[in-house]
Amino acid sequence: MEFADRKVFVVGGSRGIGAAIVRRFAAAGATVVFTYAASAGAADRLAAETGAQALQADAGARDELIAAVRDAGPIDIFVYNAGLLVLGDPLALDADEVDRMIDVNVRGAYFGSVEASRLMPEGGRILIIGSDTADSTPFPGLAAYVLTKAAMQGMARGLACDLGPRDITINVVQPGPTDTDMNPANGPRASGMLEPMAIKRYGTADEVASLTLYLAGTQARGITGAMHTIDGGFAA
Ligand code: NDP
Repeated sequence: MEFADRKVFVVGGSRGIGAAIVRRFAAAGATVVFTYAASAGAADRLAAETGAQALQADAGARDELIAAVRDAGPIDIFVYNAGLLVLGDPLALDADEVDRMIDVNVRGAYFGSVEASRLMPEGGRILIIGSDTADSTPFPGLAAYVLTKAAMQGMARGLACDLGPRDITINVVQPGPTDTDMNPANGPRASGMLEPMAIKRYGTADEVASLTLYLAGTQARGITGAMHTIDGGFAA
């Protein structure tokens, strides 16, 4: 099995894309630890289903996240998937909600990745789940969210230079509309999402997980500091 003997740590793995990533790594033989913030029931069910370990740790609370990553010991593959979507007119958005999104999407991605890299062995991998909206923003109301996802791109480029000499790669997976609780394929925004897509179908969490596993595998050892969009042509 491709990921036997690998330790995988997924930040935000209880639902949606994160849960699909947990399932795929566990099925490929990895030892998987994942965090969650609020969904204890879903986390417990996923842990029972996959044999992964579930840990409650708020990715938006810097010291809590750093402690969870540090306590896991050496991590071969670190996936930062936790994300919030705060959407709407920037003049009306609640500033505390925007700050919270920045804490979870940006600060957590940075401090979690840096901490994971501390003990990461050669050949390690860091995968960040960004968004195709960092490249193309066709709707109003996305500015704050896109700010967070664009920040991930700069972070990945910078850390690629810092970690490359240790043979550690870092890449951003950028999904487009993907059927999860955050963006349901039957939700009120769905028809607007499909409109700019070349392939007029919501992606699945498992498709995003497949790309993530490819980038974590040995065939991808030369790919770093790069963005990998999987969005049915949404941002094309
Ligand atoms: P969901 O809302 O369905 O799931 C989010 C996951 O992140 C949950 O497991 C949640 O756990 C976890 N999470 C959220 N906040 C925290 C936190 N503070 N600490 C720890 N875990 C947390 O989202 P998706 O699966 O749709 O999204 C996953 C990622 O993909 C996000 O980064 C999102 O921005 C990105 N993305 C999604 C797209 C889509 O169309 N679905 C499109 C483009 C990007 P809990 O419930 O326990 O809080």
